[in-house]
Amino acid sequence: MSGQDCTPDQPLIRVENLCKIYKLESQANQPIRHQVLFDINLEIRSGEFIAIMGQSGSGKSTLMNILGCLDVPTSGNYWLAGRNVASLSNNELAHVRNCSIGFVFQGFNLLKRITALDNVAIPLLYAGMSRKESRKHALTLLQQTGLGQFTLHYPNQLSGGQQQRVAISRALINQPQLILADEPTGNLDTQTSHEIMTLFKQLNEDQGISIILVTHEDDIASYSNRLIRLKDGRIIQDKNKCVF
Ligand code: ADP
Ligand code: MG
Repeated sequence: MSGQDCTPDQPLIRVENLCKIYKLESQANQPIRHQVLFDINLEIRSGEFIAIMGQSGSGKSTLMNILGCLDVPTSGNYWLAGRNVASLSNNELAHVRNCSIGFVFQGFNLLKRITALDNVAIPLLYAGMSRKESRKHALTLLQQTGLGQFTLHYPNQLSGGQQQRVAISRALINQPQLILADEPTGNLDTQTSHEIMTLFKQLNEDQGISIILVTHEDDIASYSNRLIRLKDGRIIQDKNKCVF
């Protein structure tokens, strides 16, 4: 999925009647069905900046994991850049996850024993690029996200906001078309949260990267252009910024 694959009149994401049911073991050996997403229908265009809100347990992370091809729906269809995700091979799925989508999480998910530079470089190393070349790209990104002075710091030598900048740099390293961020400011103080949101806004406006972000906070959601609200696994609101 590159920029060229997605024509202007084709949505980046199209989700049709998507459901997710978890099957849990019960004591009587009869699995209990726990439906978490109900008939989700969604179209997202390239370049959108979307906030997903909803109470804890409303299915936000489950939906994000499906959109990120980290999990599969129980029923329904999902097209990413015009391709039905269910029809992709494991190799194609891995390629989409590594190259087309950047992931950012609440807990940063950095490797503790390697430097900021190597945390950012690691997806390129996995893709077979030389250490020297991948570090060069990683350095450029860390400079872009304001961490040029901290490349050789280990995660525990960085503040939460700095760690999240490292994670965002890592998410950007393969030049993804889409960033999925699940409560990226959940562990950060208010000022740092706004700095991180300003960075997301710049990535969206200056580089046209589509962003889907989960948050609990209205002022964080206000950086987006479209708000989708989930309740008990259903979309109860989907509105553009002009009517927030
Ligand atoms: P949110 O991100 O909105 O807090 P989640 O998508 O994490 O919500 O969870 C929605 C519901 O799905 C919750 O009731 C949760 O317990 C359940 N759930 C999430 N993941 C699993 C899983 N792997 N197995 C069973 N139930 C799950
Ligand atoms: Mg969640």
